[in-house]
Amino acid sequence: MSFTPPKCPNIKCQNNSIAGGQFIKKGHFYIKCRNQYIRKFQCRLCRKIFSSRTFKIDYRHKKLQVNVLFVKMLTEGNSIRGISRMIGMTYKNTYNKFLWFKALVAEEKTKLQYEATKLQVDELETFHHTKCKPLSVVLVVNEKHRLLEAKVAEMPAKGKLAAFSRKKYGFRKDERREKLSEALKSVRDKLSYPPSIIESDANPSYPGQFARYFFGVKFRQYNQSKKEKRRSRLHENLHKKEFDPLFAVNHKCALLRRRINRLARRTWCTTKKPENLQLHLDLFLVTQ
Ligand SMILES: [Zn+2]
Repeated sequence: MSFTPPKCPNIKCQNNSIAGGQFIKKGHFYIKCRNQYIRKFQCRLCRKIFSSRTFKIDYRHKKLQVNVLFVKMLTEGNSIRGISRMIGMTYKNTYNKFLWFKALVAEEKTKLQYEATKLQVDELETFHHTKCKPLSVVLVVNEKHRLLEAKVAEMPAKGKLAAFSRKKYGFRKDERREKLSEALKSVRDKLSYPPSIIESDANPSYPGQFARYFFGVKFRQYNQSKKEKRRSRLHENLHKKEFDPLFAVNHKCALLRRRINRLARRTWCTTKKPENLQLHLDLFLVTQ
């Protein structure tokens, strides 16, 4: 297939704004990893030399072949530093490649469309570098165990660590409510029809938020006592085992902890920036 440049890449050139400018064919260059010759062009007006690669999204990437592999490795429980060792790139370049996916993922996310008759909502807890800085991840899953949305929220430390955390790291915002609201809005906009039921645990802030974004949709909450009852049965008599009512979302939580390394419990690989955890989750979401 012959390539015709759509415009001149030089923003100061007239051919940049007008389509169908005149370009001269100006030889080739060779890409070793693809074993491919790439045509070069020259603009007749500004004499700028460019190629068909100039208009590609992965322009100036030296290791084109690792982009797909990189995402697969990231969503199969590898850390960025681990991947850099495996593919033979420096940590800085691998990290920059990870950040490069941000714009791509944001665009892919806007194209997503879902179908769901049942939604399950829950929160997964992880931390930002230390357990004194906990993070919460709001998850929305459909009945087919597909992850529809994941939003990272900052939260204050709880229990024994609360006072120490406040003393050492100061006040932490609680963004859980706001992020739940964002997640529900995003899911509502991507659903082709409203769900028939929403299920969750007994978090008291959920009913108000569900009613706000899914007005008229039935919702059911499973409280702790019901869960405990089931859990004790699980240990005592296996044959009496009851199906976990929130299985889809709990299964997804367990799967994410396995497939996203920084979400694992008792790990060296921790989140250093919450926005990167969000990007990592979004990468999982668009490629699942
Ligand atoms: Zn030009």
